[in-house]
Amino acid sequence: MAKPKFAMYWAASCGGCEIAFLDIREKILDFDAAADLIFCPCLMDTKYKDIEAMPDGSIDVTLFNGGIRSEENLHIAKLLRKKSKVLVAFGSCATEGCIPGLANLTTKSEILDYVYRRSPSVVAGNQVLPQLSTETPSGTLTLPDMFETLRTLDQVLDVDYRMPGCPPVAEQIWAVAEAALTGNLPPKGSLVGVNPKTVCDECERTKEEKKIKAFRRPHLVDPRDIDPVKCLLEQGLICNGPAVHAGCGALCPQVNLGCRGCYGPAEGIQDVGAKLAGAIASVIDSDDPAEIDRIVGEILDPVGTFYRFGLAGSIVGRRII
Ligand code: SF4
Ligand code: SF4
Repeated sequence: MAKPKFAMYWAASCGGCEIAFLDIREKILDFDAAADLIFCPCLMDTKYKDIEAMPDGSIDVTLFNGGIRSEENLHIAKLLRKKSKVLVAFGSCATEGCIPGLANLTTKSEILDYVYRRSPSVVAGNQVLPQLSTETPSGTLTLPDMFETLRTLDQVLDVDYRMPGCPPVAEQIWAVAEAALTGNLPPKGSLVGVNPKTVCDECERTKEEKKIKAFRRPHLVDPRDIDPVKCLLEQGLICNGPAVHAGCGALCPQVNLGCRGCYGPAEGIQDVGAKLAGAIASVIDSDDPAEIDRIVGEILDPVGTFYRFGLAGSIVGRRII
């Protein structure tokens, strides 16, 4: 009997989700025995035209990571939607926009201007920007256009499942792959690769009443001054655990780092940044407006703190331009 066909694609992403797939270690042999990986540009040289030539619905499962930043991303997303029985938005970039989605704070022209003219790694004085079409002696070379706004996969087409995480942890990847291979996926539309409730519920640190007089930035804190048992938020270290979906096993608090929020909003939360800002504000221990301003002012990058992974997928979505 033919093995089920799997595909994996990266759009606007870093490649970390492909690396995370390799983190399933020896299970990769079980995966190889049970399925054929027929398309994965990070690992193998398959041409888009090979996928275009396949009958519709002939790929059993596609894990699609990355946000939709360019015409090419959108074209391949639509192509894989057509060719796949099951399409999974895989990882934070596809489900929420993740770090590439923070570019929604700026504009396409500002991005190009910085990257090609002003960044420290370009030749000083360079004014040349990439062109969509360039004539050469060998013919016309073209580049896909960039969109003004990065969108999540489910903002551009119908997605069967969403699997959060930056990247999803290996145990969850294998659990979802196994469910897909054995036909045991939950109903369409489900969030997969997660546990119930929030990171706080998985975190083993002791929780008491949270009353914050000052926030401390992690890189300015001597690790020896962090209580290894007590809730980090109660120690003035921002931790997004109260509003973030469980699934990772509370990895970051285990190593003295506040949860940054990569597993996305917990159930029932529509806008993770708004919820986190509210949760953090509610633990500030003061009635004095000036002192509250001072304490809040210690959070130097509110968008990067509360919307680091979820800006593109949030209600706000982007900076108004
Ligand atoms: S706020 Fe952070 S450190 Fe505190 S219990 Fe929740 S996840 Fe753990
Ligand atoms: S603790 Fe938070 S940031 Fe760390 S892996 Fe889990 S969800 Fe992601």
